[in-house]
Order: sequence, then structure tokens, then C-alpha cells
Amino acid sequence: MTANASPCSPLIGVLALQGAYDAHVRTLTALGAAPRLVRLPPDLDGLDGLVLPGGESTTMLRFLDRNRFFDVLQTYVLSTPTFGTCAGAILLATHVEAPTQRSLAALDITVQRNAYGRQIDSSILIAPTALPGPPLEMVFIRAPRISRTGPSVETLATRDGFPTLVRSGHILAATFHPELSADPRVHQLFLALVRANRPAANRPGIATA
Ligand code: GLN
Repeated sequence: MTANASPCSPLIGVLALQGAYDAHVRTLTALGAAPRLVRLPPDLDGLDGLVLPGGESTTMLRFLDRNRFFDVLQTYVLSTPTFGTCAGAILLATHVEAPTQRSLAALDITVQRNAYGRQIDSSILIAPTALPGPPLEMVFIRAPRISRTGPSVETLATRDGFPTLVRSGHILAATFHPELSADPRVHQLFLALVRANRPAANRPGIATA
């Protein structure tokens, strides 16, 4: 348990096979959640939510081929609040293009990998979003573009008219890296999804006797 965490803190797994998982751990800790690095299927036991970080989705898929982790994760994200950032969003999509690759197919979107071209490989955009509060800083690193959203998918932020932050039920996905910005609103939104999905007995302030 971390300094900020309490027994009521949500236990959030952060997939730590490859990529930018450390910054998610820092942000979650600062928000009072209890993060746990997830490297093997048993690490998923008892989590309230899961973060799939940015990195290289193809490399992550290779790691997920071990220990039947891909199959376990595919079942897991059907029922557990999950937040994918960048490569994590690619893993969650139903359809992946440029090139086509396998995915967990938990979120009804089509993504095109590395869609923003070389010049703007990495860039920062500050733009208004559907989140309460001021415009949001969005850090893009070899980002995918969400080119299609299914009817169940709500768009919360955009770039050039394309969605950059989307939610569908208990799944949240960003094509940018909110863990690299000081603004905690995207992770707060995810933790609100996690709380809404928690059994009543585990929620703070609710008597269990
Ligand atoms: N380009 C990477 C991919 O296709 C994603 C980049 C990122 O996560 N920052 O998986």
C-alpha cells in the first residue's frame, strides 16, 4: 500500500510488460489509489480497475502471447473498468489499422496507428473538452487516430475533429498520455468509473455490518 492509499482506496493494476507505466503509477498514487504492477495473469486478481499504458502495442502483444495472458486479459476487460492510453487504446479497440493487428476488441472503435505522421510524431495540444474545468493539455507521442466510433462510444475530447478521449461503459481510452501532464482530470474520471463499478460493500462510507 502506498502513502496516500487507505483500506478503501481502489486497487488499480497497471500493465507493466513494456512502455510508460511508471507515470501512471505516480498519478494514481497522487490521487489516493493503490496501484499494482501487472506482469502475469495472477496479478489481475482482486483489482478494481486496470490501466493499459502507452508504449508499443505490437511489443505488448508479443509479451501477452506468453502464459495465455492475451486470452485472460480479453475476458478480464469485459467486466473490469479499464483505461487504455495510446498503445493501450490500440489494444482495446475492436479494429486496428496501419497495419492491421490483433486486439482485445473491448471498445467499439477503429484506430489507425501512427496516424499523425513524422512531423508531428510528438506534440502537445491544449483544447477544451467535455470534462469540467479549463482546456486540457494532451501529449501525443506517435499517437493513433480514432477514425470510427461505434454507437455506444461517447467522445469527450477531439483533435482536428477526431476523438482523442472516449468512453463506453466501463472502458475509457485516450490516444494521448494524460499521465505525462500535471492535470489529473482524466485519471480522476477513470477512478470515478472504478468507484461506480465497485460492489457497494467496498465503497467508502457504506456500512458493511
Ligand atoms: N505507436 C505506438 C503503437 O502503435 C503507440 C505509441 C504510444 O503509445 N505512445 O503501438
